[in-house]
Amino acid sequence: MTSFPKTLFERIADREIPADMLFEDDQCIVIRDINPQAPVHFLVIPRKPIPSLDDLSIDDQSLMGHLFLVAKEVAAAEGLSGGYRTVFNCGRDAFQTVPHIHLHVLGGRKMGWPPG
Ligand code: 5GP
Repeated sequence: MTSFPKTLFERIADREIPADMLFEDDQCIVIRDINPQAPVHFLVIPRKPIPSLDDLSIDDQSLMGHLFLVAKEVAAAEGLSGGYRTVFNCGRDAFQTVPHIHLHVLGGRKMGWPPG
């Protein structure tokens, strides 16, 4: 059986690489982004190492819904009562840099639109 190297975010979930962990459960972890683009910037990451949105299957439907419910809870805990932005970067054109799907949550300032 072929075994693939762990992704960066699997290594963080397994505590091989340190991160500021805000929440975790059996399906996902939530960490602060190491290079925040807003006063509050965290990532909701499934434990399952799906590379990107393009790799989702029907089996992942409930997991993806779970990520948004967790995002909402952590946003409230972080005090983002004025709102926040959620982003999945997918692929080269969107500058996805880590090939393990993750939901960005950004808040604590006014967000511009259209995004850059
Ligand atoms: P992407 O560009 O793939 O949408 O987002 C990857 C995010 O992961 C970036 O915002 C980047 O700052 C963040 N990141 C990359 N490496 C690390 C790390 O080692 N620890 C943490 N906490 N965030 C990371």
